[in-house]
Amino acid sequence: MASPKYIFVVGGVMSGIGKGVASSAIGRIMQSKGYKTTAIKIDPYINVDAGTMNPTEHGEVFVLQDGYECDQDMGNYERFLGETLPSINYMTTGRVYQEVIRKERNLEYKGKNVEVVPDIPLEVIRRISEAQKTAQADVTLVEVGGTIGEYQNIIFLEAARMLKQKYPRDVAVVMLSYVPIPNNIGEMKTKPTQYAARSLNSVGLQADVILARATVPLDEKRKEKIATFCNILPERVISAPDVESIYDVPLNYEKDGMGDILCEVLGLPQRPTDLGDWEVFVKKVKNGTKKLDIAVLGKYFMSGEYVLSDVYISVIESIKHAAAALDVKVKLSFLDSEPFERDADKIQELKNYDGVLVPGGFGGRGVEGIISAIQFAREQKIPYLGLCYGMQLMCIEYARNVAGLAGANTAEIDSSAAHTVIDFMPEQKEKIAKGEYGGTMRLGTYPCVLKDNTIAREAYGAADIEERHRHRYEVNPAYIAKLTDAGLVFSGTSPDGTLMEIAELPKEKHPFMLGTQFHPEFLSRPLSPHPLFKAFIKAAGEKK
Ligand code: GLN
Repeated sequence: MASPKYIFVVGGVMSGIGKGVASSAIGRIMQSKGYKTTAIKIDPYINVDAGTMNPTEHGEVFVLQDGYECDQDMGNYERFLGETLPSINYMTTGRVYQEVIRKERNLEYKGKNVEVVPDIPLEVIRRISEAQKTAQADVTLVEVGGTIGEYQNIIFLEAARMLKQKYPRDVAVVMLSYVPIPNNIGEMKTKPTQYAARSLNSVGLQADVILARATVPLDEKRKEKIATFCNILPERVISAPDVESIYDVPLNYEKDGMGDILCEVLGLPQRPTDLGDWEVFVKKVKNGTKKLDIAVLGKYFMSGEYVLSDVYISVIESIKHAAAALDVKVKLSFLDSEPFERDADKIQELKNYDGVLVPGGFGGRGVEGIISAIQFAREQKIPYLGLCYGMQLMCIEYARNVAGLAGANTAEIDSSAAHTVIDFMPEQKEKIAKGEYGGTMRLGTYPCVLKDNTIAREAYGAADIEERHRHRYEVNPAYIAKLTDAGLVFSGTSPDGTLMEIAELPKEKHPFMLGTQFHPEFLSRPLSPHPLFKAFIKAAGEKK
């Protein structure tokens, strides 16, 4: 095999135009050529990981198998590549500095002056190289967060320059740019892209490929113009118009020969691109015949600079994967739960839905509304899927209204409630007392054992599973017997039987009412949808 190849993906003009999806799509293309591919995300902020960030500001916190809390783009990479990525594939400025300072304190620089340049970019390169080795990747994608010209990401661009200087044949730079069509002009303008290309030149890098994001495909004239002014071959300017589904993106890039161009730039042997199974999936995403309406209840719906689809991206994608597999089309409606607290009649609106989903969450706002909605879904036999908080609240509703435990609550909201059915995990109590919030929840993959003759066991088709977690609270062991006696089934537990991982109602009582303490949405993939999402969508289809 040739030497390892690196593709840096950088953003020009502005953020929010889909660099994560672009990187994922390029990864899928290279992988489909038979090159072992991995992907790295760099975020230029000081936070050491994404764990302490509010989802309304940063979007979803994605959890890796090893428990690292990171940017949602890591989820895109895992979904597009179908690979499990380790934490070395994610870094922030904070993480990089933390490591350099640790080494300095540990005398690992042997008394020399430790400088921002080159020591910080060298640590970035060390991490990139470790990720490449861990994955034994032929091709390593490196997405640099933010936009060229920002003060924040300069050390990462410097790392790219240093790597390219050392291995000129092995590093490619792809710039994702934006080509606006101002309303009053009605014509595509390439000038912002030209400036972005110059900014990139000013840090010693030249784009090998330019991806031109726009509402519509690029015409030849614009391609020529970008080529001339950005100093690249016209065929290396690739059109990236808005698409119906993010899963279209690799297919679209291939229309302009993306994979072959990158092989050419990197001196990789040309091989055919095989996106056959991907194409079949993309068709299914669009063609679903039966239409289902699913209500998603939560609170992160209104505020912040991030759009909704970013906050719940893994849940949304998991639903799409399951829907495609079942040949249905799902319309998700995001309902703010707070009005349900004030207006009992509003709950009736849930009758219009084929399923109700409550995703993960934290804190007390809107929670009573969610609990009322869960009660409604249970009594009206509307299929229900609860993820993490959605499982805990399902248990609280059951405790209050079926098991006769009035005032049941989670210690997260009211630690002096009459019945803290959901309580701190003991080790979490100590951490919070010490003010340790970052990376201290129960995080990452844990095994779970499923009970025979349950919905969960049937859906997975296996008794032993592994799922990813991110929580601080759990079903209080003191209440397990009371809830079980009242008819709730804990169909999944930790292997030692102490932690309740899945709660469900027996089929005789409800067509599908199930909640998971873990986050199944982190493991769903386009070509292998998650069994619980499939079971939920199937039940919703049957209800309809
Ligand atoms: N807030 C709950 C806990 O900490 C649920 C967390 C979640 O939904 N991710 O346990």
